[in-house]
Amino acid sequence: MKISAIVLAGGKGSRMNSDIQKQYLPLCGKPVLYYALQAFQHSSVDEIILVVGNGMIENISEEEYCKKELIDKYYFNKVKHIIMGGSERYNSVMNGLKVIHNEMDYVLIHDGARPCITVELIERCIRDVIAYKACVAAVPVKDTIKVVDSKDYAVSTPDRSTLWQIQTPQCFEYNMILRAYYDMIADKEKSNITDDAMVVEKYSRNKVKMTHSNYKNIKITTPEDLQIAKAFLFQSI
Ligand code: C5P
Repeated sequence: MKISAIVLAGGKGSRMNSDIQKQYLPLCGKPVLYYALQAFQHSSVDEIILVVGNGMIENISEEEYCKKELIDKYYFNKVKHIIMGGSERYNSVMNGLKVIHNEMDYVLIHDGARPCITVELIERCIRDVIAYKACVAAVPVKDTIKVVDSKDYAVSTPDRSTLWQIQTPQCFEYNMILRAYYDMIADKEKSNITDDAMVVEKYSRNKVKMTHSNYKNIKITTPEDLQIAKAFLFQSI
């Protein structure tokens, strides 16, 4: 059984209002991205593909920064490739999928901006992907969710008991997700693709299973998320 992980750090993070891309901001003394790499390094995945952007940090390229300040410094020897991302998240994922060797059986795709990921959750995802071929870390929504119109008026209220909030890792049989991604890229009519499960739902026959996650596995998106992540990480140190 061979398992690859794609860790995504190719975004610009414009909602963070910061000069530094959010995955490199300091969090408890280390860059945000350190925590995801560390969890995958200590999990049972065989290799990590790190996807970075084309920006600069501390006057060096993101690629050089990751090599020097993360991979060499913390001995993340499972990182086998550092590759350039694309303009949308799905382009970055596609670039990652293309460099994975076809001897890999499964791939776990994770947002580098989710630092509170644990080895335990990664292992639970691996068990589920082996059982179901496609699974995503997720939690039931706590709040009521509204569908709204373009003027912010409520249009409808979906039944909350059917709604889940989707996180990463998103995990798939490698050949299946690769085929689905090629079909999605070729589709000129594709709508806004915000996660990998959407690609499987639309371009394959596989069903996607929810892997029960926890509410701490947040994505750093806006400044207050850093404070929340800090509290969660302090608890686990
Ligand atoms: O922008 P968003 O928060 O949805 O990004 C989720 C993850 O995908 C982040 O870790 C970000 O770095 C990554 N990403 C990427 N390439 C892009 C856009 C986002 O690797 N073009």
